[in-house]
Amino acid sequence: MNGFSTHAVTGIDFTIDAYAVLVSAAAARYRFLRFAESSNEGEVALWRHDIDFSPQRALALARVEAASGVLATYFVQVSSRYYSIFEPEIGGILRKIVALGHDIGLHFDAEVCAHQAAPHYDRRIAFEARVLEEVVECSVAAFTLHNPTTLVGVSLNEPYLVGLVNASCSDMRAAYAYCSDSNGLWRFRSLLEMIADSSVDRLYALTHPEWWQAEPMPPRQRLQRCIEGRAQFCSSFYDGLLAENNRPNIGVQP
Ligand SMILES: [Zn+2]
Repeated sequence: MNGFSTHAVTGIDFTIDAYAVLVSAAAARYRFLRFAESSNEGEVALWRHDIDFSPQRALALARVEAASGVLATYFVQVSSRYYSIFEPEIGGILRKIVALGHDIGLHFDAEVCAHQAAPHYDRRIAFEARVLEEVVECSVAAFTLHNPTTLVGVSLNEPYLVGLVNASCSDMRAAYAYCSDSNGLWRFRSLLEMIADSSVDRLYALTHPEWWQAEPMPPRQRLQRCIEGRAQFCSSFYDGLLAENNRPNIGVQP
C-alpha cells in the first residue's frame, strides 16, 4: 500500500460524516479567519478548499460547515477542465456557498499562460478574479495556485499579487501548522490529529471537496464519481430538453 494507511486507501476517513466530526471538533476550538485578515489572538484557523473537480461536493461541505458556524474559503477555478463557472448550475452553487456565509477566492492554474513567451500571470490572475467576482456576485480577495509543485520555472510566491492575498505563499503557510488532503489522503498527520493537538494553536487546513463523499471508497473512485456525475447530468439535461419539447431523440439509451 506504498506506506499509506489502510484508512486512506479505503476512504473511511473521507466520508461526509467523518468530515462533520472534524468540523465540529475544529469549531469547538478555533476562531476562523478570512484570508485577507490575520490575527495573533487566541486559537485561529484558516479553512481552505481548492475546488479542482466538484462544486457539488463543495456545497455539501459548505452546508456541514455552516451548521457548525465554521467560516471557510472556497477557491474556484475559472479555467478548469472539470467544471465551468459559466454553467448556470455551477454559478448557482457558488452563490449558495456565499449565502451560507463563506468566502470565495480564485484557484489559479498557471498552465493557461504556458503558451506565452513571457507569461503575464498577474494580468491573467486579475482577469480571472474579476470574472469570478461577476459570477459569484461577491468580492474576491485571495488566490491559490493549482498544482504548484508541477510548475517549472514559476514561483508566484509573493505574499500579494494584483492586490490579492496569495494564500499559497510559503510565508503564510509557515505562519501556521499546515495540513492538506492532497490526492485524497493525509500525507503526514490527519487533520483530526492536528485539531486534537494542544500545541497547534494556529491551524491552516487545506481540503479538496472531491475527496469527501457519502460512502467510503479509494481516492481514484471518488474522482471518477465526480467525473461521471457531471457526464450523467449533461446526458439527462439533453434528453430532458428534447422530451419537454416533444422532439425525436433517436438512438437514446434506455
Ligand atoms: Zn488545485
